[in-house]
Amino acid sequence: MLSLIDNPPPWPNGARCAVCFAYDFDAESLLHLYYPSADVTRRMGAAATLRYGARVAIPRIAKIWKHFGIRQTVFVPGWCIEQYPEAMEILISGGHEIGHHGWLHERVNQFSREDEEKIMIAGIRAIEKATGAPPVGYRCPSGAFSEHTLDLMIEHGLRYDASLGGHDIPYLLERPDGKSIVCLPHDNSLDDWTQYVNFKAADWSMPVQSPDRAMDVFRADFDAAWKHGGLWTAVWHPFVSGRLARAEAQVGLIEHMMEKGDVWFATCAEIAAHIDGLVERGEWSPMVERLPMWPAPAEQIARPSR
Ligand SMILES: [Zn+2]
Repeated sequence: MLSLIDNPPPWPNGARCAVCFAYDFDAESLLHLYYPSADVTRRMGAAATLRYGARVAIPRIAKIWKHFGIRQTVFVPGWCIEQYPEAMEILISGGHEIGHHGWLHERVNQFSREDEEKIMIAGIRAIEKATGAPPVGYRCPSGAFSEHTLDLMIEHGLRYDASLGGHDIPYLLERPDGKSIVCLPHDNSLDDWTQYVNFKAADWSMPVQSPDRAMDVFRADFDAAWKHGGLWTAVWHPFVSGRLARAEAQVGLIEHMMEKGDVWFATCAEIAAHIDGLVERGEWSPMVERLPMWPAPAEQIARPSR
């Protein structure tokens, strides 16, 4: 077979690939972020759609994962953790990992370093309070990783990032002093917004695809990861992929994965710990991305004049 990933990591028990259904449980944080005024209080239609994620979809998704005996990861803004203790209890008691996803879903590359740190600490505290332990991993809301994010993650004890997409397999993000964290990459092809979301409040209007068509995309990425030793980690949202027909399609996708066999279903934290262990024992060498990627903007020899 022509292998298309050079040097894939060895997965536990000889598995062909690793899989984590990583959800972003954003609920109405998006609405409060986009409309930070009293205006938000009259947006009932959007609020109901987003609240569906907390009230209906999280219990449904947890039920699916329990049915298949898998534990997965849900990234949650701190504000949502405080708003929805019942949904959080379902996830925590099910053994699922709760990852850091900001406080109110802030795009942190729009903030000062000081404010980004404030947001990071608030999210960590919310998770500590709910689970009894600090988070291990972070997914920047909207993928808005800043030039300070890696530093702040290392300073605050986070062990992995799930925001970037620089490879098909885990790699390291390293800062100039040599300290690093694991990056668990994904691509937009595994984000459910591109398939399903038609949501005026978020200024996002994609044609809504059928679950079969969306699963074609998600399944193709899984089949390739399975064949070549990759990592399959989704960016799904309860209010999107937890809707009834799409939840049914998720069941079908997990059945497909299980029928193929030799798949390691794990939380992102477990996958990152596995990678850390391989590196520490010298059993595998990942790609290393040193940040910042550029010391300064590229010099331009000419600028458009018309
Ligand atoms: Zn999000």
